[in-house]
Amino acid sequence: MTLALDRVGTPVVPAVTAAASVPLVTGGELDYANLDHAASAPCLAEVRRAVDEFLPYYASVHRGAGFASQVSTKVYERTRDVLRRFAGARPSDAVVFTRNTTDALNLLARSVPRRTSVVVFDTEHHAALLPWRGPNVQRIPLPATRLEAVSAVDEALRACPEGPRLVVVTGASNVTGELLPVADIAAVARRHGARVALDAAQLAPHRPISVRELDVDYVALSGHKLYAPFGAGALIGRADWLRAADPYLAGGGATKSVRRNGEAVGVAWQAGASERHEAGSPNTVGVYALGVACERLSASWDAVIAHEEALLDRLERGLAAVPGLSELRLFDGGVSRVGTVSFVLTGTDPGRLAAVLSAEYGIGVRDGAFCAHIAVSRLVARTGEEGTQALRVSLGLGTTPEHVDRLITALRQVVARGP
Ligand code: PLP
Repeated sequence: MTLALDRVGTPVVPAVTAAASVPLVTGGELDYANLDHAASAPCLAEVRRAVDEFLPYYASVHRGAGFASQVSTKVYERTRDVLRRFAGARPSDAVVFTRNTTDALNLLARSVPRRTSVVVFDTEHHAALLPWRGPNVQRIPLPATRLEAVSAVDEALRACPEGPRLVVVTGASNVTGELLPVADIAAVARRHGARVALDAAQLAPHRPISVRELDVDYVALSGHKLYAPFGAGALIGRADWLRAADPYLAGGGATKSVRRNGEAVGVAWQAGASERHEAGSPNTVGVYALGVACERLSASWDAVIAHEEALLDRLERGLAAVPGLSELRLFDGGVSRVGTVSFVLTGTDPGRLAAVLSAEYGIGVRDGAFCAHIAVSRLVARTGEEGTQALRVSLGLGTTPEHVDRLITALRQVVARGP
């Protein structure tokens, strides 16, 4: 991939190349087993190269006639199409660039019509659980089976007053990796005239998503979980509510015109969903990097899934043989999941265990409640162990079989040492 900058005035934007192999991630030179991909995934080597190429040429978008501004504007606008394709979205769907999933879901929460009824499971990540306001928000407990989860949404929607309705659901749990029955929930939502917002922060890095096939209305995702650097994410979905809402941020870029009317200042806001909600100078480099990562993943799904499933199988078999280890699961039965597993170890503080794994074994995991406090405390209680925290291991493209084996060996040694 090269930035062709040979003829000033006719910028040629970089084309994203695609290959079928599992992409290499950066950081492989360290003897460090990063088993925390669910928090943030290390940058793809190809993304890093693309960003390096782009850095000398970035400039403010939509505001300059200069060459670098033209290149940046083209790259930025073209990335909306990349994201639309990545999410399997409708041609009419808006793509609003945000900082991350939290930002995207808060933007949606600020854009829903007044008195929208919202249904969300209380086990969701706080980014999906908390942004909704008003008397018509139902935060319902997640039942123990996927079938009952769909029925619970059905029941909650029946209880909604007349008016707009929205169901918010994650694609994959950030605690257990389990997949939620999104398409079934969307089908139920349709019957009640409700829209569906998919929190794809954890699903998008591991499985292809399709707004159209799932029949959802909005998708929120984060670049830093998709093997791109921090600072860029997106809300993709139906434009009408976004166009009708007040701008998310007031400022330059979101305005069509600003006039002095005597004592007052009159503002005409942009009508388009993305311009209206992207005030200020955007993160052009981050958006470009996000687009490159999405293109790269889209071209590699078979390899990505095969890589992760083999490692997940190795991890699950290894963990099952560690004495005193109890896994957290949302649902009864063998629900398929991405490579994220949380557990508690009898008599062991998760924070202390994470510190030992890091200091003595060079393994990075996450301990705590993973911004899903209700889910983690409920699931820990279900194991019969004390406490409200757990340890989370999450796999990704940078993970090797040696990393998994190192973790299993370390856990067995920690258990053998005793408390
Ligand atoms: N939703 C889920 C399921 C997540 O796992 C996360 C982050 O861990 C978020 C939302 C929030 O993502 P971000 O911190 O990038 O806004």
